[in-house]
Amino acid sequence: MIKLNDFSSIFIANWKLNGNIEFIKQYYQKLIPSNKNCVVICSPSIFLSHLNPNNSNLFSGAQDVSTFNNGAYTGEVSASMLNDNKINFCIVGHSERRQYFKENNETVKLKSINLIKNKIIPIICVGETLNEKEKNITKEVLYNQINNSIPDLANSENTIIAYEPIWAIGSGLTPSLEDIDEVHSYIKNIDKRFNNFKLLYGGSVKAENSAEINKLQNVDGCLVGGASLKVDEFNRIIS
Ligand code: PEP
Repeated sequence: MIKLNDFSSIFIANWKLNGNIEFIKQYYQKLIPSNKNCVVICSPSIFLSHLNPNNSNLFSGAQDVSTFNNGAYTGEVSASMLNDNKINFCIVGHSERRQYFKENNETVKLKSINLIKNKIIPIICVGETLNEKEKNITKEVLYNQINNSIPDLANSENTIIAYEPIWAIGSGLTPSLEDIDEVHSYIKNIDKRFNNFKLLYGGSVKAENSAEINKLQNVDGCLVGGASLKVDEFNRIIS
């Protein structure tokens, strides 16, 4: 398993349902891996074998995994299959999966268990909706998600948490720096076992705001969606 603590920061590119083989070829020609930060490119599963993690700080990640290990589950990809393909990371519980594919904390937990057992680091996403933020129940929502989607066998070396306020994803909006740091501190202190977890921020991270976000005391890197599709911009984010 990769030693997360060896890196000063972790940056995850979430390409979502984007990319093709030519895009990948050009992307890796221009991508400049960082020598101190861990960088993970998460492509659609069909392209995972085309990614080119040719550097000790550059890895490949999936965007989802099955809750099942094998059997009659048409269309699924299991954690052991990802492991077999040398995939080191996998996003789980992204808000788009929770929202469009009705994933709940229980499925997120099950997927995370399968991943950890197969030596793949789950990047477990949590975050509140705009409605929940406006009702002032962000902390309650996060408490519930953290306690119910992170399995007991998770620890700071085999699991990453990503705080992604849903209203900030793809919207160009971000919480204030103070709010990000406060929420991150809250998450890390929900239980002392979370104190040392790597906790990433995600939601409209761009080249112009990534440095100030990543400098915050309780932020250990960023999960980047839209901006990760532009390799020049992503190079600026991870440098
Ligand atoms: C995401 O997909 O997790 C994300 C944070 O997207 P964006 O950076 O585009 O807001």
